[in-house]
Amino acid sequence: NPNLRPLRVFFIPYFATGHMIPMVDIARLFATRGVDSTILVTPANATLISPTIDAASAAGLPIRTLLYPFPSSAVNLPPGAENLASVPLSDAPKIDAASLLTVNDHDRLLRLHRPDAVVSDTHFFWTTSIARDLHIPRISFHAIGLFPVCVMSSLFRHLPHLTVSDDLHPFLVPDLPHPIHMLRSELPDFLRSNNTPIAEAMSALSDAESGSLGVVVNSFAELESAYADYYYKHDKMTTWFVGPVAQVTGNVSRGAAENPRAISNRERCMEWLEKQRERSVVYACFGSWCHFSSEQLREMALGLEMAGHPFLWVVREGDGEEEWMPEGFEERVKEKGLVVIGWAPQVEVLRHRAVGGFVTHCGWNSVLEGVSSGLPMVTWPLSTEQFINEKLVVEVVGTAVRAWEGRRSTEEGEKEVVKSGDLAVAVEKVMGAGKEAEKRREKAREVGEMAKKAVDVGGSSYEGLSRLIQDIRDFDGGINGCDRV
Ligand code: UDP
Repeated sequence: NPNLRPLRVFFIPYFATGHMIPMVDIARLFATRGVDSTILVTPANATLISPTIDAASAAGLPIRTLLYPFPSSAVNLPPGAENLASVPLSDAPKIDAASLLTVNDHDRLLRLHRPDAVVSDTHFFWTTSIARDLHIPRISFHAIGLFPVCVMSSLFRHLPHLTVSDDLHPFLVPDLPHPIHMLRSELPDFLRSNNTPIAEAMSALSDAESGSLGVVVNSFAELESAYADYYYKHDKMTTWFVGPVAQVTGNVSRGAAENPRAISNRERCMEWLEKQRERSVVYACFGSWCHFSSEQLREMALGLEMAGHPFLWVVREGDGEEEWMPEGFEERVKEKGLVVIGWAPQVEVLRHRAVGGFVTHCGWNSVLEGVSSGLPMVTWPLSTEQFINEKLVVEVVGTAVRAWEGRRSTEEGEKEVVKSGDLAVAVEKVMGAGKEAEKRREKAREVGEMAKKAVDVGGSSYEGLSRLIQDIRDFDGGINGCDRV
């Protein structure tokens, strides 16, 4: 029927690289199915995602960005600081405050363009009521897997962490498909305290979630289906697995934009990896915004050296090399190690034949990228829900070991310094000889294969996306129902 027009979907990612990258990948996936996809984004964040969008639209996919202003002056941030990764940690709450001020722009743009559906970050809870007014469905996106979503949902419902007296005694997270124990110090800040404004904000988020059509998840059923069932049973939420999305978008430059340093880093990384033996390299990287103390970076350097395997290590820009670099380190490791300052092409690195293990901070994207590359991991969580993600790969899937055992932070939330020897032991468990290590590597390869199959035509996530698009088409919100293909 020539009168039918393509489905038009708007995507609104939150102002953090780890949220933006997968949402752009999801928008790109929609576009590969013929859905006309528009990403609402602020100017500085647009430059971050432009390589992906430009490549996709040059390949003929119906995808574009639509800009709206970032309220820099209202929250006292300098122009261009529009992302969690581009502000000092102490300014992170300003990004949240700025996000709350974007409600009017979202409202204006959605009413003006009247898409058929909106996929928005869970932070933007107001999009549920805008969508309701427009008789269109809102789909929520958490930027994390269902395992951490369900762990947090159980914690909110049962509050087991409020019954323990200290950080030394693990408590059981009730009702989950697997028996998960946690320490209070492993919880995200917003859960650790009994803070009323945070509890109110969480309740607004969860009400908006209930009013959504469901949740699109960057994960795959073979990894987390038990948690989809749990989420449906306890929170009545429908979910669609569509990932691992990085598996589909592949080597497209992600999140680094036109930063010349990132481009030269890419060349250095790939050239260096080409010279290394199959599965011999340990890759260590800690996401887009976490920083370490100089003392910790020094121990990490010594630990990677001590482990004795070739390593590719990404250190965040601004972590002053002169302060942490151990005496003579560069000279000693120059044949064995490559230290990259700033941004590495992580997905490409993880997929390289020379990489054999991944030391990760357990951000959800990194965990999933490691899993789908078939790699065993050393886990080094730092904050937010990273300690929860760690439990999935260490305890449930069994493809990772902890960088160190024991207590993770002091009562005041300060991190204990991890010693070089602990890191070296953990790296050896992943890279070294022995039955246990071999078993772990075999398991990692198996799960990696499952991840690849999930996104292939006919795989579980491929079908998940088909179902989601069909559910949007079938949405009976009143007025828009019948003229879309
Ligand atoms: N990333 C990258 N190069 C880097 C650091 C990070 O490509 O040097 C990508 C990584 O592949 C992942 C994202 O940035 O897709 C980071 O997301 P994650 O959830 O792992 O961590 P966050 O940055 O949110 O803590």
